[in-house]
Amino acid sequence: MELARKLAILADAAKYDASCASSGTVKRDSRHGKGIGSSTGMGICHSYTPDGRCVSLLKILLTNYCIFDCLYCINRASSNVQRARFTAKEVVQLTLDFYRRNYIEGLFLSSGIIRSPDYTMEQVVAVARTLRLEHEFRGYIHLKTIPEAAPELITEAGRYADRISINIELPSAADVAKLAPQKNFEKTQIAMNEIRNRIEEAKAARSENRKVPLFAPAGQSTQMIVGATAASDATILRQASSLYTKQRLRRVYYSAFSPIPDSSSKLPLVAPPLVREHRLYQADWLMRFYGFNVEEITTSAAPNLDLNIDPKLAWALRNRDIFPVDLNRSPRELLLRVPGLGTRSVERILQVRRWHRLRLDDLPRLHLPLNKVLPFVTTADYNAKALTIDGDEVLAQFRAADAQMELFAEGAASAIHGQF
Ligand code: SF4
Repeated sequence: MELARKLAILADAAKYDASCASSGTVKRDSRHGKGIGSSTGMGICHSYTPDGRCVSLLKILLTNYCIFDCLYCINRASSNVQRARFTAKEVVQLTLDFYRRNYIEGLFLSSGIIRSPDYTMEQVVAVARTLRLEHEFRGYIHLKTIPEAAPELITEAGRYADRISINIELPSAADVAKLAPQKNFEKTQIAMNEIRNRIEEAKAARSENRKVPLFAPAGQSTQMIVGATAASDATILRQASSLYTKQRLRRVYYSAFSPIPDSSSKLPLVAPPLVREHRLYQADWLMRFYGFNVEEITTSAAPNLDLNIDPKLAWALRNRDIFPVDLNRSPRELLLRVPGLGTRSVERILQVRRWHRLRLDDLPRLHLPLNKVLPFVTTADYNAKALTIDGDEVLAQFRAADAQMELFAEGAASAIHGQF
């Protein structure tokens, strides 16, 4: 098969994997004439498309042949898709060629499982090893690892990759047993734990001696499929929260299940609304940067996120007694809970109020979204009168702003940096 055809098949097959942002790694460059490529440490997350659009990472599978039969996956053994397989040498050559043509800044490499997890992992590692050692490639490399592979291979992957990831795929052992019986939820957790230990050991050793080799300096990430089972958002977020705290994951990516041809009757016929994925990213952001825990974001009575309003507003409306929050006196933790205030806005408020008391006309200068913030705050000359925090009234104010977000969510739900 021609290389271009393989590329079309294996780039398309890789598009279902969302876990490929490249932020957080070390800076490496080749400006002094040694090696090829650079990793900027910026958050790049694009992929190569066969028609040449929008490339930053060459995001491909080594092969879409697979001996596993995970029901939700288009590349499962029983799927009737066209198959292709790159050799390790071909992936190396493509990466170097694309890099030289300025199409990409790095490689995201995943693979179906051929022959055995070890055999597949050896091929994946061979690509990274050749790029790093033979070609002195300094660009970004993200390797998807296979939890069933030998730990030595995963360790070697971490030596060459900026980021490594293992997809947990589903939020519970029962879901994995139902839809991906050849995978083992426990083994995935053990492999993640192993990677976490290696990352922490390498960091500690390097703080004493800069010559100790790096190990996955951009950390590890994972992906969870949303809507393939009946798991609630609370279950998904609880699993994500546990991965952040126990495995110190850099990111959990949420990927809305997309129905696939000839699928099993165990799978839903329709995809979940994309806005659900978007709300999960917002909730994830609240857990990581705003001090919320899962039990605050979802409740036992409502284990799924409200699709109509963002989770921070939903929390505020359930906890009206806390508002209004005094912008001049409240601590950072409480300011972060005000709908419409993002982490940067809160820092600006804390800075400005050191010099003078905030008044209503300061708020536009701080670029705060007034329609969102005003129902929840007081300033030196303004009091929201908690009493007017009436559900319908506030909701109406938020809906217009949220309508814009829904449009955005339909197009690109995976990276939310805004104010909540
Ligand atoms: S192991 Fe990976 S590629 Fe193979 S069927 Fe499962 S999810 Fe798909």
